[in-house]
Amino acid sequence: MSISVKTFASTAEAATALSGDRAARFMGGGTLIMRAVNEGDQSFNTILLANDPALTEIQAQGDRLIIGSRVTMAQILASRDLEFLHPVARAVGGPAIRNMATVGGNLFAEHPYGDLTAALLVLDCQVTLAGGQTSTLPDLLRDRTREPRVLVASVSIVRPQSGIFKFRKVSRVKPKGVSLMTIAAWIPQSGGRVSGARVAYSSMGPTPMRVQAVEQALEGATLDETGVGNALSAATSGIEPPTDAIASSWYRREVAPVHLKRTLLGG
Ligand SMILES: Cc1cc2nc3c(=O)[nH]c(=O)nc-3n(C[C@H](O)[C@H](O)[C@H](O)COP(=O)(O)OP(=O)(O)OC[C@H]3O[C@@H](n4cnc5c(N)ncnc54)[C@H](O)[C@@H]3O)c2cc1C
Repeated sequence: MSISVKTFASTAEAATALSGDRAARFMGGGTLIMRAVNEGDQSFNTILLANDPALTEIQAQGDRLIIGSRVTMAQILASRDLEFLHPVARAVGGPAIRNMATVGGNLFAEHPYGDLTAALLVLDCQVTLAGGQTSTLPDLLRDRTREPRVLVASVSIVRPQSGIFKFRKVSRVKPKGVSLMTIAAWIPQSGGRVSGARVAYSSMGPTPMRVQAVEQALEGATLDETGVGNALSAATSGIEPPTDAIASSWYRREVAPVHLKRTLLGG
C-alpha cells in the first residue's frame, strides 16, 4: 500500500486534516510511525507533518515550562531549563532514537513505552491541543485512541524544587532496554511529612497512570523505611500489570514494591 505524506506550514491546518481523515496519522519524530509503515501497518495511509516552529520551542513561563510537542528527547537533554528531565530523556532509547523521539509521540506511544509520559503525569502536566483547547494528561491518555484523533501542540509542566521530583526506569538490558516498570514521583514535604504526593507508573498497564493508592498511603507519612511501609504495600493495589516479553504480570507485582522503595528513599 502506498503512503502519502502531507506537510503543512501551520499546526491548525494539520489538525484540520487529521480530524477529517480517519486513515491519517500525525507524525512527530516518526520512530513508531515509520516502524509501523515498515511493518506493513494497514490502519493508515496518510502521514501528516507540521513545520510550525512553535512545535519545537521550549519556553519558561513563571514556575511553568511550556514544551512544544515536536521537541525531541535530544532537545530536552540540551535544555538547561529542563535539567530535571535529563535523566528521563536519557532513559528513552539510544542516541539515534532520542534525536527523533518527540514529547508528543511519547504521549501516544503504546506499552511498553511512555517513560517521559510517566514523568509528565507527576509534573502537573496540562496539554494544549491545536486550536487552543486544553486537557489534563490523564484525560488525554484515557481518550487517546478515540476518533477523531487530536493533535497535541504543547505540554505545560511545573518546574520542581530541588529533591521533590524522582524518576526510575527499571529494565533488564542497560542502558537502552525497554521498561519493565518506570516510576516517577513528586514528593513534597511539610513539617517532615509527605503532603500532596504524586506517583505515576508506565509499563504497568495499558497507558502510563497515576497510582492513587500509593499517593493516599504516602499522605502524612515520614519519608523513611517505616513511614513508606503502607505505600509499598499498596504498590500494585488496583493495578493489573501486563505480561509481555519483558516480564510476567506476577513478576511486575513482585518487584514493584522494591523499586518503589528505591525511588522514594534512594538506593
Ligand atoms: C528502538 C526503539 C526504542 C525505544 N525506546 C523507548 C524507550 O526507552 N522509552 C520510551 O518511552 N519510548 C521508546 N520508544 C518509543 C518511541 O521512540 C518514543 O516513545 C517516542 O517519544 C515517540 O515519539 P515519536 O515522535 O517518534 O512518535 P511518532 O512515531 O511520530 O508517533 C507515535 C504516535 O504518536 C502520535 N503523535 C505523535 N505526535 C503527536 C502529536 N503532537 N499529537 C498527536 N499525536 C501525535 C502519532 O500519530 C503516532 O500515533 C522506542 C522506540 C524504538 C523504535
